[in-house]
Amino acid sequence: MNSHPTRREALALAAAGLLTACRPDGRAAAASAGKEPLMNTSTAPIPVAFVGHGSPTLALDPVKGAELTAWAQRWPALRGVVVLSAHWEDAPVQIGATRTLPLIYDFYGFPKALYDVQYAAPGAPWLADRVAGLLQGQPVQRAPERGLDHGAWVPLKWFLPKADVPVLAVSLPSQDPQALFALGRKLAPLRSEGVLILGSGNVTHNLRQVSFRGDPPPPAWATEFDAWVSEVVQGGQMDALLQWQTQAPAARMNHPTVEHFTPLLVAAGAAWGDGGRPKVTWPVQGWEYGSLSRRGVQFG
Ligand code: ZN
Repeated sequence: MNSHPTRREALALAAAGLLTACRPDGRAAAASAGKEPLMNTSTAPIPVAFVGHGSPTLALDPVKGAELTAWAQRWPALRGVVVLSAHWEDAPVQIGATRTLPLIYDFYGFPKALYDVQYAAPGAPWLADRVAGLLQGQPVQRAPERGLDHGAWVPLKWFLPKADVPVLAVSLPSQDPQALFALGRKLAPLRSEGVLILGSGNVTHNLRQVSFRGDPPPPAWATEFDAWVSEVVQGGQMDALLQWQTQAPAARMNHPTVEHFTPLLVAAGAAWGDGGRPKVTWPVQGWEYGSLSRRGVQFG
């Protein structure tokens, strides 16, 4: 029998102050061996993630989905998730529902099975209050009737298939890179409180250029943009990243509208929030529908 606690058990231990979460690899671990120092009030920072959610049919794709599930195995036990989806732009910043609501099926013409997918994650009232506190000084609105859109629930279905971690959706309140980066920085303290900050969009996203026939190779305008993003993110060139619309090759072609790119800027802000330079890895790479990059980013 496995002597290590499950995530749920670890969270209960953490709540009781019985958990150490200071292992050098950053993963939460029980203090059963009594060898590790106790940390009652904070955990090692949770990574920050940006996921390419692609088509809603990802929810029904066990092969691509398995990659996300495997990615999530790298995360410590989570107390909650704050998700910023490309499909929720609203200003001022909105804090979504804090109870379980029906999913938002914000797409049309897809297989019926997709409209039957459920993801009944618990609400997170405490997390909503905490986010509001962190955003003090800027206008914030509550959106208690706003559930999870597909940019949130499609990847979460694979990341956390048990739907047992509280999820809070927060809107993208701006398209200004500096403002989005600053938003991420304000949310960064959540990382030490067991909360995953998840941006959901796509590194490349031009729906007029995608192909649903066969599996054509990605065009140069997409691969060059994707390579530029990976280079500046890996290199910690935040100034360049924030000027992506003028510095990246074919930025407009890759993003005729910017909402699928901007969640990456919030994630980057959360990752660089403490001024340190996080480790960057790419848990998912590759292409789909021709020009859609599947690149996922993990910071930390
Ligand atoms: Zn989308």
